[in-house]
Amino acid sequence: MSKIIKLDESIIRQVAAGEVVQRPASILKECLENSLDAGANAIEIDIEEGGVSLLRIKDNGEGITANELPLALQRHATSKIKSIDDLNSIHSYGFRGEALASISAVSRFEIESKHKDADIGAKIELFESDSTPDVYDCTCGYGTTITVKDLFYNVPARRRFLKSTRTEFSYLDEVIKKIALANFNVSFTVTNNGKRVRDFLAVEKGNEQERIEQVLGTEFSQNNMLVDNSENDYKISGWISKPYFSRGYSDMQYLFVNNRVVKDKAIAHAVKRAYSDVMQSGRFPAFVLFITIDPTVVDVNVHPSKEEIRFTDSKSISQFVYKSLKKITSQPLAASFIENTEFNINSILESNEFKPSKSEEKHDFSSSVILNDLTNEQQNAIASSIIIDNKTSVRQPLQSEQKIINNNDQQKSIKGIQHHPLGHAIGQLSGLFILAQNKSGLIIVDMHAAHERVIYEKMKTAYKNNGISSQLLLVPVKIKVECNILKRVKEIEEVYFQLGFSLSYSGDAVIIKSVPALLKKADVAALFSDVNIEISRYETSDSLTIATNNIIATMACHAAVRANDYLSLDQMNGLLREMEQTNAAEQCNHGRPTCKQLSLKELDSFFRRGT
Ligand code: ADP
Ligand code: MG
Repeated sequence: MSKIIKLDESIIRQVAAGEVVQRPASILKECLENSLDAGANAIEIDIEEGGVSLLRIKDNGEGITANELPLALQRHATSKIKSIDDLNSIHSYGFRGEALASISAVSRFEIESKHKDADIGAKIELFESDSTPDVYDCTCGYGTTITVKDLFYNVPARRRFLKSTRTEFSYLDEVIKKIALANFNVSFTVTNNGKRVRDFLAVEKGNEQERIEQVLGTEFSQNNMLVDNSENDYKISGWISKPYFSRGYSDMQYLFVNNRVVKDKAIAHAVKRAYSDVMQSGRFPAFVLFITIDPTVVDVNVHPSKEEIRFTDSKSISQFVYKSLKKITSQPLAASFIENTEFNINSILESNEFKPSKSEEKHDFSSSVILNDLTNEQQNAIASSIIIDNKTSVRQPLQSEQKIINNNDQQKSIKGIQHHPLGHAIGQLSGLFILAQNKSGLIIVDMHAAHERVIYEKMKTAYKNNGISSQLLLVPVKIKVECNILKRVKEIEEVYFQLGFSLSYSGDAVIIKSVPALLKKADVAALFSDVNIEISRYETSDSLTIATNNIIATMACHAAVRANDYLSLDQMNGLLREMEQTNAAEQCNHGRPTCKQLSLKELDSFFRRGT
């Protein structure tokens, strides 16, 4: 007798099913993709016991004719491709023709379908693997219903790999979320053990945030930033979390390439890098991102359940993703903080007519941290044009402002000034927070965190350009250090120099002669010690170069205003204006938020006004 035998069709199907069907969630994914490929816009899902005892997917797609119904269950039978070349321009989710064959091989399976041109529906019940099933007439609505019962009843070994009902349900739910995020115009309802648990209504174009909120919750929907960029043949769109809305896990990350949900390490890394400067390490951003690329430059046929794909040029796509997101995570507050703001500081500053007089009072705060792009005159004009009478809290125009108001040509500029995104300071709370009023309501700013960000961005820019400018100390500071630290400091003295320190040595002490100008008020000894600690983490000079941002962040922390520092209203306004111009000012260098808007609407609802 021959040792090698040809396996039975039913065994072949079961073996092959192993690749496609790992658990109920894999079945649901395949069936939902089939429904979407069939043009359905309403899908109902019923789940019992984590999908193991029952999974039913009902759609209103184009349906399958009675003739073709048995074919749909055969291996390698598909209506979606005819030749391998079709894969180069694939627009459907499916193409392998394996799902229904696999699912029906490992479950008690039933399919009911009424094709859009048919008068009556057709049905197949497959209770034991049967290669030539009977087709019955049935009365049903247009579309297709797939019922999968007793998963793995005939492959007990597989059943043992399933997790608890609750965990299997959570996998199913995750599949639904993914598919729902990529198909806004389709409604999804879900019952679990007879109870309605999800009800995602179809949303029109432009209202996608409603679906985002339903699927990912209010917190993400209220704390995200819109992505929309294209370059050459690449396009990216979607939503990414504001950096202070971070998570402990990478769970809220949804990536779609040509609307197919995929995992891709290089892209995930590119996203992470775009947040590296604004998010605490070990935290994860949340995102829903859609990348659209020419189907010929991506291979979707590298994974049985099509979760991984291969790009012909993965590097350039990752770079495109990084660049697109970095632009958003680092944009100045003026561009991002408040929606619908009419304010555009650049247009005011570009207008030549806006030339305030030199005599206007110069406030301390701005003079210690000078705006990168503005002249002193411009800064002073902006900050001093907003003054609030301390006693009455009614805004009084300054003399200089009155001057401008009287000039008709400059009405436009004034309108802009009154609409600063972060508003006007009205006071300080607990020596920690600036309270400000803007068009939408109340702004609360964490002084230290905000100032730290402003300084960090300034120093970073200065470091990149001609180096951080330094300030000679009136009295040099002598600091004793351990000999290994002294050795290291001497070795990389150039780095300290670039960071704005100038040093000399005396025995086992370092003498600090000058410090970065922005840090002239800092405690020099503490600053130097922290910089040493940060620098000692990077052994080679290469890693040090990469890490300069971390060192600068440490330094910025020393420069920033401290709790209980008293700031005048002018100084507070100075900081608010600086924040508006600072990249990524909404969070400090450690990813904590720097400011919070409490809208009048929220306050009204809290105080139950107008109800
Ligand atoms: P694939 O999706 O890769 O083509 P499947 O095994 O998932 O393979 O499905 C086989 C075929 O059955 C599909 O090509 C499609 O023509 C048909 N089909 C499956 N599910 C549906 C559905 N819900 N509505 C309409 N046609 C379907
Ligand atoms: Mg399919």
